[in-house]
Amino acid sequence: MSERVIPLIDQRLVSVAARIPHELTAPTGLLGDALGRPLRDLRISVTDRCNFRCSYCMPKDIFDKDYPYLPHSSLLTFEEITRVARQFVAHGVQKIRLTGGEPLLRKNLEILIEQLAALRTVEGQPLDITLTTNGSLLTRKALALKAAGLQRVTVSLDGLDDATFRAMNDVDFPVADVLDGIAAAQAAGLGPIKVNMVVKRGTNDQEILPMARHFKGTGIVLRFIEYMDVGATNGWRMDEVLPSADVVRRIHAELPLVQLDASAPGETAERWGYADGSGEIGVISSVTQAFCSDCNRARLSTEGQLYLCLFASQGHDLRQLIRGNATDAQLASAIAAIWQGRSDRYSELRASLPPDAGAGTRRVEMSYIGG
Ligand code: SAM
Ligand code: SF4
Ligand code: SF4
Repeated sequence: MSERVIPLIDQRLVSVAARIPHELTAPTGLLGDALGRPLRDLRISVTDRCNFRCSYCMPKDIFDKDYPYLPHSSLLTFEEITRVARQFVAHGVQKIRLTGGEPLLRKNLEILIEQLAALRTVEGQPLDITLTTNGSLLTRKALALKAAGLQRVTVSLDGLDDATFRAMNDVDFPVADVLDGIAAAQAAGLGPIKVNMVVKRGTNDQEILPMARHFKGTGIVLRFIEYMDVGATNGWRMDEVLPSADVVRRIHAELPLVQLDASAPGETAERWGYADGSGEIGVISSVTQAFCSDCNRARLSTEGQLYLCLFASQGHDLRQLIRGNATDAQLASAIAAIWQGRSDRYSELRASLPPDAGAGTRRVEMSYIGG
């Protein structure tokens, strides 16, 4: 059994105050960070709670009934989220992904989606609004989400074998209900749908081929994610990572693949198409192949902390400004100053460290800032 790393301090409390610069500059949509990377993608976590206990994300022994989830008063309201999102959009954000925790657990999420759908990019275009979900509530909510202005969804599913999946989500949730959720999303027009599978060697890697066979030819893009060393509680070990190159090799041996061009700069997935033209898969090699050089993603936590990297150990407290007397111009300038100072490139740096060097480091949990 792997040794559990129990964090002694609550990493959520480690943050720096967001400062309003002396000179305010109007957003131009062209903001760049210290390494010249633009700001295009904002991921907003709308809750730190979840009805699953995936071992790689919210292990049951840590996220138990005594875990100090955020009180409701700490969460940004929908109006606060929309206000801060508007400033990000003015700086160049084109895509917003709602995440969590399980985002569909946040009450009345459709109202937030309606508000965000009314925003326009600097070029006057609608935003690309999407959501990542474990799919458990999709049958109930797909139609309302679509009506509110959500364009598409990404559903996480770690295998088709019921026993394997029930053990991985650790709350005995059946595969069939997630597949029903995917079907409901498809019927509601929430596409193109992506399905994310986190691959843990020795746990669900035998599910790679069944998953590929199942989704081939359906129009759904299956993406395999390398098990990452996010957070500090999942007991991550390098020997449980199955490199994406192996995933591609295994599928290619039965279902021939050809590599496709990236869909957009900053896109995390490498694309592979089936040689017979029946669709594509993606692989996200967060561990074996760093893609920091064009990382254009910012993350806003449930309580308004801005994180510049998935592996950051501290956030920048925007809620203090939002709930203070900061004007929109001040808020936008504060965000600009933070992004301009960004030099995070954890995955690139990790490549030069010993394999398990980062395991157990103090880092914020994925369920708090979202994937
Ligand atoms: N609850 C929703 C879900 O599971 O889709 C949204 C939040 S979840 C944190 C977002 C994504 O992160 C999911 O696709 C999940 O599989 C992935 N994820 C969580 N922990 C991970 C880890 N240690 N390595 C790789 N991916 C991880
Ligand atoms: Fe919940 Fe998603 Fe984390 Fe699984 S990966 S525990 S569904 S937040
Ligand atoms: Fe972006 Fe950080 Fe991931 Fe690099 S490690 S791709 S900077 S989130």
